[in-house]
Amino acid sequence: MKEKKCTRWQARLIAFLACLAHAGLTLAVTPACTMDKMQLIVPDARDAEDVCLGAARAVTFFAEHGLAMKEPVHLEVRDRLPPNSSATAAGIFLAEKGQVFMLSYSAFRKFGNWFNTPISRDLYQSLAAHEIAHAITSAHFQRDKPSVHAREYFAYVALFATMPASLRERILKTLPGQTYDDESRLSLMVYLMDPMFFGAQSYRHYLNMNQDQRKAFFLAVLDGKALAE
Ligand SMILES: [Zn+2]
Repeated sequence: MKEKKCTRWQARLIAFLACLAHAGLTLAVTPACTMDKMQLIVPDARDAEDVCLGAARAVTFFAEHGLAMKEPVHLEVRDRLPPNSSATAAGIFLAEKGQVFMLSYSAFRKFGNWFNTPISRDLYQSLAAHEIAHAITSAHFQRDKPSVHAREYFAYVALFATMPASLRERILKTLPGQTYDDESRLSLMVYLMDPMFFGAQSYRHYLNMNQDQRKAFFLAVLDGKALAE
C-alpha cells in the first residue's frame, strides 16, 4: 500500500515536471538528454526530444566507425539562426566555439520542404544528426582547415545513414545519381552547385564500401588524404 502511494506521488512529480517543460519553463539545460559532453538548450520539450534523438543517432553512428565525441558541444535551438547565417540554412556549427545553432521545429516548418520532401519531425531529427555529425567529426580532423566538402561528406552520410529507411528511399528517389567508387566526383563544385545532391551522392559512395573500407576512407578524409581542397 505504502509503495503504491509512493509510485503515485512519483508519477505526479514526473507529470508536473513534464508540464513545466511544456510551458517552456525549463531549465536552461534540457534534462531529457543525458549524453556525455552534450549541453542542449531547447525551449520546446517536443523539439528537445527530436534533437536528442537525432544527436544520439549521430553519436552511435560515428562510435561504430571508431569516432567518439571528443569535445563538448553546446547546442541551442532558436527561432532564428545567428546573424551572418545563410538564409537557407536550418542549422549551423561553429567549430571554433563548439557551438551548434538549430532552428526550432516551428521555424523549420516554414521552409515547407527540405531535401525535396515536406518538413516532418523525422527530417527535424535528421537535421540534428547532421549538425551533431559536424561537431563530432570536427574534433577528429588532423588538419586545421579541412575542406568544406570533407566536412559535409561526414555530415550528410550521418544524416542519411541514421534516418528512417522509408524516408531515405523517398528522398534518394528525388535525387537520382550513379554510384562511383571514385571520390573525386564528390567535389567542392558539386557541393556548391547542389548541396542536397552532394549529400545523396556522399551517402551512395559510403554505401558502396564495406565496413573496413568505410573506416579507412573516414581516416583518409580526416588526414586530408581524401576529399582535400
Ligand atoms: Zn553541414
